[in-house]
Amino acid sequence: MLMKVLIPSSVYHIILSHALSTEKEEVIGMLIGEWQGLKNTNPFMSNRALASVEAVSLLTRSDKRKDRVEIAPEQLHLAALEAEQVGKRLGRKMCVIGWYHSHPHITVFPSHVDLRTQLSQQYLDSHFFGIIVSCFDSSSDHTQRVQITCFQSENAPDGTVSRVNVPIEIVPSRTVPPVMRETFLDLPKRMFEEHYKEYEAATSKRILYSDHRNVTSDKMTELYNTGVYGQSITHLVDNVICPATHILENTAQELDHKIEEVKRKLSETKKRNDNAFLIEL
Ligand SMILES: [Zn+2]
Repeated sequence: MLMKVLIPSSVYHIILSHALSTEKEEVIGMLIGEWQGLKNTNPFMSNRALASVEAVSLLTRSDKRKDRVEIAPEQLHLAALEAEQVGKRLGRKMCVIGWYHSHPHITVFPSHVDLRTQLSQQYLDSHFFGIIVSCFDSSSDHTQRVQITCFQSENAPDGTVSRVNVPIEIVPSRTVPPVMRETFLDLPKRMFEEHYKEYEAATSKRILYSDHRNVTSDKMTELYNTGVYGQSITHLVDNVICPATHILENTAQELDHKIEEVKRKLSETKKRNDNAFLIEL
């Protein structure tokens, strides 16, 4: 029985950045971490566990239609390999403990597809959980809000699949672990790969059928595809790369100030100690 999910603020930041990277499509990723058993003398409570998330594995989506987020077996395998690597770096055994996806412009509640996907994963491990981030969802007073939910699925008596809410706790973290820093920098690269694959697929289809089409129509399709690809890349630079660079520059500036302040305090303390030593003499 999963009692609570703990997410460090650095991991939460990555999930939000991923979810806010596009308002047209749902994004998906896997959560890497460990389950911690809760000690209890009551045998009926002995399987209670806490989930502690340590890292994120970003997935590339192949089907971008609405409400089609699914965990492909090959992607689950890649995430498991990534978990192994994270485990080696942290010196602890890590595994894929959950998944997350975004709901742009819709409510945070899991759809029937989400509940079924979740249930199929729970057959493999009963503690597996899902997180949904609802973003770009405007309320009646035109304010936007971001909502997050954590859930599991269970078979209802009437044969349908229902939702079980799982409490979630964002744990403040003062530093960003190197693993998460790399994932943050990897996000634009993954998005670029997704756009490029789409463009490549559209272009190869055109070449495949080009014998049966007239040249003008082919040229127009090529221009259109290139235009869409260019638009996606511009969007990526404007909405992901530029704000990320801005954040990193601001953080670097803030750290520089802190280093200067620590150096100043250190020299002041040294001077005070030297003076005290001279007075004693
Ligand atoms: Zn969904």
